[in-house]
Amino acid sequence: MEEKMMIIDPHVHMTARTTDDYEAMAEAGVVAVIEPSFWLGQPRTQVGSFQDYYSSLVGWEPFRASQFGIKHYCTIGLNSKEANNEALAEQVMELLPLYLHKENVVAIGEIGYDDQTPAEDKYFRWQLELAKELNLPVQVHTPHRDKRSGTIRSMEVCLEHGLDPSMVVIDHNNEETVKEVLDRGFLAAFTIYPKTKMGNERMVEVVRKFGSNGIIVDSSADWGVSDPLAVPKTASLMLKRGIAREDVVKTCYQNALDIFGMNGKMKESDWLNPEGINQTKLFNDNSVLRGQQPKVDTDKIV
Ligand SMILES: [Zn+2]
Repeated sequence: MEEKMMIIDPHVHMTARTTDDYEAMAEAGVVAVIEPSFWLGQPRTQVGSFQDYYSSLVGWEPFRASQFGIKHYCTIGLNSKEANNEALAEQVMELLPLYLHKENVVAIGEIGYDDQTPAEDKYFRWQLELAKELNLPVQVHTPHRDKRSGTIRSMEVCLEHGLDPSMVVIDHNNEETVKEVLDRGFLAAFTIYPKTKMGNERMVEVVRKFGSNGIIVDSSADWGVSDPLAVPKTASLMLKRGIAREDVVKTCYQNALDIFGMNGKMKESDWLNPEGINQTKLFNDNSVLRGQQPKVDTDKIV
């Protein structure tokens, strides 16, 4: 067995996952995750729900990840689906600047189109302006319906607003969209789904065909049918199928670090010199232990 590779999953909704997932991810080599803000499966009805959600992405969830030895970062934004509730969306837009400066926020995201409605368009553009103003990378969710036209439209709107394509990750690509995304200088992320859409067998062939420049693998694991180990599993399948190790490192680690590390908040030293797991720590008087014996990396604690 080869030496364990460091993995970053740059799109995973850990709030919806269990502590078993964190343990399995750490065991599989995941050193850092990025959690995009998204919808919750059921529409929110009040701005306070967004506020508490964003607060958990910059507070409780990074703490929870740290208890299992994983660094947690997030992207903050108004998702496309809930942009359609305009009265609420207006209030959410006022909240965003309060969170974009927090210490683990690495980009604006995930934003973009769902049904490609006028309201989605309006808030997508507004948030692109915000990204430009704050010099933040952008994580774009592309629609699952009308994938190709929605992807092209997302890029065109980014360019129209003067964004540098090398600061924008276009997510949920497939074989039909990847070439156009790379040709235009954007980063192309792929979400690996366990059963449908983009599977890891197909991902191997994408990297074989297009190489590793600008390509990023993620799991988008959330409350739906999804696999939080999709990135490490794809990495090991790539190695098994003869993809060069340096290409696996780029697509499953380095490319994500390069773009999401741009604003200086996410750095390799964050996990190369870890504080160590210390489960005796508390967050606002709460722990993740539920009475279990705390695990402490005594060698790392000074
Ligand atoms: Zn997502």
